[in-house]
Amino acid sequence: MLSLAGITSPASFPQSLPERTYQVLKCNFHTHTTYSNDGIYTPTQTVNLFYDAGFDVLAITDHNTNAGVSEARAASADKGMIIIPGEEVSCYWSDWTNKHVVALFTEKKIGQWQNISVETIFNDVHSQNGIGIIAHYWVTPEKWNPYLNATYIDGWEVNNPKESNIDTNWVYTSKYIYLRNQDFHSDLNSITQYCNYVLVENRTVEGVKDALLNKRVVVYENGELYGSPYALSLNLKNQGSISTTKNLPPPSAPIATPAPTSIPILLGSFYFDKTSKNQNSPIVSVS
Ligand SMILES: [Zn+2]
Ligand SMILES: [Zn+2]
Repeated sequence: MLSLAGITSPASFPQSLPERTYQVLKCNFHTHTTYSNDGIYTPTQTVNLFYDAGFDVLAITDHNTNAGVSEARAASADKGMIIIPGEEVSCYWSDWTNKHVVALFTEKKIGQWQNISVETIFNDVHSQNGIGIIAHYWVTPEKWNPYLNATYIDGWEVNNPKESNIDTNWVYTSKYIYLRNQDFHSDLNSITQYCNYVLVENRTVEGVKDALLNKRVVVYENGELYGSPYALSLNLKNQGSISTTKNLPPPSAPIATPAPTSIPILLGSFYFDKTSKNQNSPIVSVS
Protein backbone atom coordinates (compact mmCIF):
# COMPACT_ATOMS: atom_id res chain seq x y z
CA MET A 1 0.00 0.00 0.00
CA LEU A 2 1.34 3.41 -0.88
CA SER A 3 2.19 5.80 1.86
CA LEU A 4 1.66 9.52 1.43
CA ALA A 5 2.84 12.05 4.00
CA GLY A 6 2.44 9.67 6.86
CA ILE A 7 -0.98 8.45 5.85
CA THR A 8 -0.38 4.77 5.44
CA SER A 9 -3.54 3.23 4.20
CA PRO A 10 -6.39 4.42 2.03
CA ALA A 11 -8.51 1.96 3.92
CA SER A 12 -8.27 4.28 6.91
CA PHE A 13 -9.82 7.15 4.97
CA PRO A 14 -13.45 7.97 5.68
CA GLN A 15 -15.72 5.98 3.43
CA SER A 16 -17.84 9.05 2.72
CA LEU A 17 -17.59 12.74 3.29
CA PRO A 18 -19.01 14.02 6.56
CA GLU A 19 -22.68 14.75 6.31
CA ARG A 20 -23.52 18.40 5.87
CA THR A 21 -26.69 20.10 6.89
CA TYR A 22 -28.34 22.96 5.13
CA GLN A 23 -31.14 25.13 6.36
CA VAL A 24 -33.49 26.36 3.67
CA LEU A 25 -34.17 30.08 3.98
CA LYS A 26 -36.86 31.97 2.12
CA CYS A 27 -35.37 35.15 0.69
CA ASN A 28 -36.00 38.25 -1.38
CA PHE A 29 -32.90 40.15 -2.49
CA HIS A 30 -34.44 43.19 -4.19
CA THR A 31 -36.72 45.39 -2.07
CA HIS A 32 -37.62 49.07 -2.16
CA THR A 33 -38.93 51.21 0.68
CA THR A 34 -39.83 54.86 1.18
CA TYR A 35 -36.12 55.57 0.80
CA SER A 36 -36.74 55.01 -2.90
CA ASN A 37 -38.74 57.60 -4.81
CA ASP A 38 -41.06 54.84 -5.98
CA GLY A 39 -41.44 52.80 -2.77
CA ILE A 40 -44.49 53.26 -0.56
CA TYR A 41 -43.78 51.25 2.58
CA THR A 42 -41.32 52.28 5.26
CA PRO A 43 -38.49 49.86 6.03
CA THR A 44 -40.34 48.81 9.19
CA GLN A 45 -43.57 48.14 7.29
CA THR A 46 -41.65 46.28 4.61
CA VAL A 47 -39.91 44.07 7.15
CA ASN A 48 -43.26 43.28 8.78
CA LEU A 49 -44.87 42.43 5.44
CA PHE A 50 -42.15 39.96 4.51
CA TYR A 51 -41.88 38.54 8.01
CA ASP A 52 -45.59 37.82 8.06
CA ALA A 53 -45.19 36.14 4.69
CA GLY A 54 -42.63 33.72 6.14
CA PHE A 55 -39.45 35.25 4.78
CA ASP A 56 -36.21 34.60 6.63
CA VAL A 57 -34.01 36.96 4.63
CA LEU A 58 -34.70 40.38 3.13
CA ALA A 59 -32.28 42.61 1.25
CA ILE A 60 -33.07 46.33 1.37
CA THR A 61 -32.02 47.72 -2.00
CA ASP A 62 -33.32 51.25 -2.47
CA HIS A 63 -32.33 53.26 -5.52
CA ASN A 64 -28.79 54.59 -5.05
CA THR A 65 -29.00 54.63 -1.26
CA ASN A 66 -28.63 52.25 1.66
CA ALA A 67 -30.18 54.72 4.08
CA GLY A 68 -33.13 52.44 4.89
CA VAL A 69 -31.02 49.51 6.01
CA SER A 70 -30.57 50.62 9.63
CA GLU A 71 -34.31 51.01 10.19
CA ALA A 72 -34.91 47.60 8.63
CA ARG A 73 -32.32 46.05 10.91
CA ALA A 74 -33.96 47.62 13.96
CA ALA A 75 -37.38 46.41 12.85
CA SER A 76 -36.14 42.87 12.35
CA ALA A 77 -34.06 42.64 15.51
CA ASP A 78 -36.70 40.80 17.54
CA LYS A 79 -37.84 38.62 14.64
CA GLY A 80 -34.79 36.55 13.86
CA MET A 81 -34.97 37.85 10.32
CA ILE A 82 -31.75 38.46 8.42
CA ILE A 83 -31.38 41.84 6.72
CA ILE A 84 -28.94 42.03 3.83
CA PRO A 85 -27.60 45.55 3.28
CA GLY A 86 -27.34 46.92 -0.21
CA GLU A 87 -28.82 49.20 -2.80
CA GLU A 88 -29.96 49.17 -6.40
CA VAL A 89 -27.45 51.11 -8.42
CA SER A 90 -29.85 52.81 -10.80
CA CYS A 91 -28.76 54.68 -13.86
CA TYR A 92 -31.45 56.87 -15.32
CA TRP A 93 -29.88 58.88 -18.12
CA SER A 94 -30.97 58.18 -21.65
CA ASP A 95 -28.58 55.47 -22.70
CA TRP A 96 -28.74 53.76 -19.32
CA THR A 97 -32.47 53.67 -18.78
CA ASN A 98 -33.33 50.73 -16.58
CA LYS A 99 -29.77 49.55 -16.53
CA HIS A 100 -29.70 48.63 -12.89
CA VAL A 101 -27.39 46.59 -10.68
CA VAL A 102 -28.48 45.17 -7.33
CA ALA A 103 -25.56 45.52 -4.90
CA LEU A 104 -25.77 43.11 -1.98
CA PHE A 105 -23.75 42.87 1.24
CA THR A 106 -22.44 46.42 0.80
CA GLU A 107 -22.35 48.54 3.95
CA LYS A 108 -21.27 51.74 2.21
CA LYS A 109 -23.17 53.49 -0.52
CA ILE A 110 -21.80 52.90 -3.98
CA GLY A 111 -19.98 56.15 -4.43
CA GLN A 112 -20.35 56.87 -8.09
CA TRP A 113 -23.05 55.62 -10.38
CA GLN A 114 -23.35 58.14 -13.19
CA ASN A 115 -21.18 58.22 -16.29
CA ILE A 116 -19.18 55.19 -15.24
CA SER A 117 -18.84 51.75 -16.71
CA VAL A 118 -20.67 48.68 -15.50
CA GLU A 119 -17.31 47.20 -14.56
CA THR A 120 -16.59 50.19 -12.33
CA ILE A 121 -19.85 49.63 -10.48
CA PHE A 122 -18.90 46.00 -9.91
CA ASN A 123 -15.40 46.99 -8.82
CA ASP A 124 -16.96 49.20 -6.14
CA VAL A 125 -19.29 46.39 -5.06
CA HIS A 126 -16.41 43.93 -4.89
CA SER A 127 -14.20 46.38 -2.98
CA GLN A 128 -16.79 46.05 -0.22
CA ASN A 129 -16.84 42.25 -0.54
CA GLY A 130 -20.30 42.59 -1.99
CA ILE A 131 -22.14 40.70 -4.69
CA GLY A 132 -23.58 42.44 -7.77
CA ILE A 133 -26.64 41.12 -9.60
CA ILE A 134 -27.91 42.46 -12.91
CA ALA A 135 -31.47 43.65 -12.24
CA HIS A 136 -34.42 42.84 -14.51
CA TYR A 137 -32.23 42.13 -17.52
CA TRP A 138 -35.27 41.30 -19.65
CA VAL A 139 -36.54 44.90 -19.48
CA THR A 140 -33.67 46.21 -21.62
CA PRO A 141 -31.96 43.09 -22.99
CA GLU A 142 -30.39 45.02 -25.84
CA LYS A 143 -28.37 46.98 -23.30
CA TRP A 144 -27.25 43.91 -21.37
CA ASN A 145 -26.60 41.42 -24.15
CA PRO A 146 -23.01 42.67 -24.62
CA TYR A 147 -22.36 41.71 -20.99
CA LEU A 148 -23.63 38.14 -21.05
CA ASN A 149 -20.15 36.69 -20.56
CA ALA A 150 -18.61 39.43 -18.43
CA THR A 151 -16.38 37.85 -15.82
CA TYR A 152 -16.86 40.59 -13.23
CA ILE A 153 -20.63 40.15 -13.08
CA ASP A 154 -21.69 37.90 -10.21
CA GLY A 155 -25.24 37.09 -11.19
CA TRP A 156 -28.45 37.86 -13.00
CA GLU A 157 -32.06 38.15 -11.99
CA VAL A 158 -34.29 35.65 -13.76
CA ASN A 159 -37.72 36.58 -14.97
CA ASN A 160 -41.24 35.31 -15.21
CA PRO A 161 -41.63 33.78 -18.68
CA LYS A 162 -45.22 34.96 -18.67
CA GLU A 163 -44.12 38.57 -18.36
CA SER A 164 -41.56 38.64 -21.15
CA ASN A 165 -40.44 36.90 -24.29
CA ILE A 166 -36.86 37.03 -23.07
CA ASP A 167 -35.65 33.63 -21.92
CA THR A 168 -33.38 33.70 -18.89
CA ASN A 169 -33.21 29.94 -18.41
CA TRP A 170 -29.60 29.95 -19.66
CA VAL A 171 -28.55 31.40 -16.32
CA TYR A 172 -29.38 28.18 -14.48
CA THR A 173 -26.59 26.28 -16.21
CA SER A 174 -24.13 29.17 -16.34
CA LYS A 175 -21.36 30.18 -13.96
CA TYR A 176 -23.54 32.97 -12.61
CA ILE A 177 -25.66 33.31 -9.51
CA TYR A 178 -29.36 33.52 -10.38
CA LEU A 179 -32.10 35.12 -8.29
CA ARG A 180 -35.85 35.43 -8.76
CA ASN A 181 -36.30 38.70 -6.96
CA GLN A 182 -39.51 40.59 -6.47
CA ASP A 183 -38.20 44.12 -7.05
CA PHE A 184 -40.80 44.91 -4.42
CA HIS A 185 -42.19 48.43 -4.47
CA SER A 186 -45.83 47.99 -3.47
CA ASP A 187 -47.24 44.88 -5.18
CA LEU A 188 -48.38 42.74 -2.26
CA ASN A 189 -49.35 39.86 -4.54
CA SER A 190 -45.73 39.45 -5.57
CA ILE A 191 -44.76 38.59 -2.01
CA THR A 192 -46.34 35.16 -2.29
CA GLN A 193 -45.69 34.64 -6.00
CA TYR A 194 -41.89 34.72 -6.07
CA CYS A 195 -38.98 33.98 -3.79
CA ASN A 196 -35.55 32.42 -3.58
CA TYR A 197 -34.83 29.41 -1.38
CA VAL A 198 -31.22 29.55 -0.25
CA LEU A 199 -29.51 26.60 1.44
CA VAL A 200 -27.25 27.84 4.20
CA GLU A 201 -24.86 26.17 6.60
CA ASN A 202 -25.20 29.06 9.01
CA ARG A 203 -28.22 31.25 9.57
CA THR A 204 -26.23 34.48 9.31
CA VAL A 205 -25.54 37.19 6.77
CA GLU A 206 -22.25 35.47 5.94
CA GLY A 207 -24.03 32.14 5.70
CA VAL A 208 -26.40 33.59 3.11
CA LYS A 209 -23.50 35.09 1.16
CA ASP A 210 -21.67 31.77 1.19
CA ALA A 211 -24.76 30.02 -0.15
CA LEU A 212 -25.12 32.53 -2.98
CA LEU A 213 -21.46 32.36 -3.95
CA ASN A 214 -21.74 28.58 -4.10
CA LYS A 215 -25.03 28.72 -6.02
CA ARG A 216 -27.01 26.87 -3.38
CA VAL A 217 -30.22 28.56 -4.44
CA VAL A 218 -33.44 27.54 -6.14
CA VAL A 219 -36.05 30.01 -7.24
CA TYR A 220 -39.78 29.70 -6.69
CA GLU A 221 -42.46 31.11 -8.90
CA ASN A 222 -46.15 30.42 -8.81
CA GLY A 223 -45.83 26.81 -7.69
CA GLU A 224 -42.71 25.91 -9.67
CA LEU A 225 -39.09 25.57 -8.63
CA TYR A 226 -36.18 26.37 -10.94
CA GLY A 227 -32.42 26.18 -10.61
CA SER A 228 -29.23 24.44 -11.61
CA PRO A 229 -29.29 20.63 -11.54
CA TYR A 230 -26.93 20.84 -8.57
CA ALA A 231 -29.13 23.23 -6.59
CA LEU A 232 -32.33 21.37 -7.38
CA SER A 233 -30.68 18.13 -6.27
CA LEU A 234 -29.51 19.73 -3.06
CA ASN A 235 -32.93 21.16 -2.44
CA LEU A 236 -34.46 17.75 -3.07
CA LYS A 237 -32.26 16.24 -0.38
CA ASN A 238 -33.20 19.00 2.02
CA GLN A 239 -36.91 19.23 1.41
CA GLY A 240 -37.83 15.76 0.21
CA SER A 241 -39.18 16.88 -3.12
CA ILE A 242 -38.31 19.53 -5.64
CA SER A 243 -42.02 20.10 -6.09
CA THR A 244 -42.65 20.62 -2.40
CA THR A 245 -43.96 24.08 -2.92
CA LYS A 246 -46.70 22.73 -5.14
CA ASN A 247 -47.98 20.76 -2.19
CA LEU A 248 -47.82 23.45 0.42
CA PRO A 249 -50.77 23.78 2.77
CA PRO A 250 -53.30 26.40 1.80
CA PRO A 251 -52.35 29.92 2.73
CA SER A 252 -53.39 31.30 6.05
CA ALA A 253 -56.15 33.82 6.47
CA PRO A 254 -55.52 37.30 5.12
CA ILE A 255 -53.75 39.70 7.41
CA ALA A 256 -54.72 43.33 7.69
CA THR A 257 -52.69 45.41 5.33
CA PRO A 258 -50.63 48.19 6.90
CA ALA A 259 -51.40 51.57 5.48
CA PRO A 260 -48.82 52.88 3.04
CA THR A 261 -47.11 56.01 4.21
CA SER A 262 -47.49 58.03 1.07
CA ILE A 263 -49.26 57.29 -2.19
CA PRO A 264 -52.68 55.77 -1.46
CA ILE A 265 -53.46 52.85 -3.73
CA LEU A 266 -56.12 50.18 -3.97
CA LEU A 267 -54.35 47.13 -2.65
CA GLY A 268 -56.91 44.41 -3.31
CA SER A 269 -56.92 41.08 -1.52
CA PHE A 270 -53.85 39.01 -0.83
CA TYR A 271 -52.77 36.06 1.23
CA PHE A 272 -49.69 35.28 3.22
CA ASP A 273 -47.80 32.04 3.29
CA LYS A 274 -46.36 31.13 6.67
CA THR A 275 -45.24 27.69 5.68
CA SER A 276 -41.49 28.19 5.77
CA LYS A 277 -41.29 30.73 8.50
CA ASN A 278 -37.95 31.18 10.16
CA GLN A 279 -36.86 28.47 12.52
CA ASN A 280 -39.48 26.12 11.11
CA SER A 281 -37.46 25.86 7.93
CA PRO A 282 -36.44 22.25 7.41
CA ILE A 283 -32.97 21.04 8.27
CA VAL A 284 -32.04 17.78 6.61
CA SER A 285 -28.71 16.00 6.43
CA VAL A 286 -27.03 15.95 3.06
CA SER A 287 -24.26 13.57 2.26
ZN1 LIG B 1 -34.49 48.58 -11.27
ZN1 LIG C 1 -35.70 47.80 -8.12
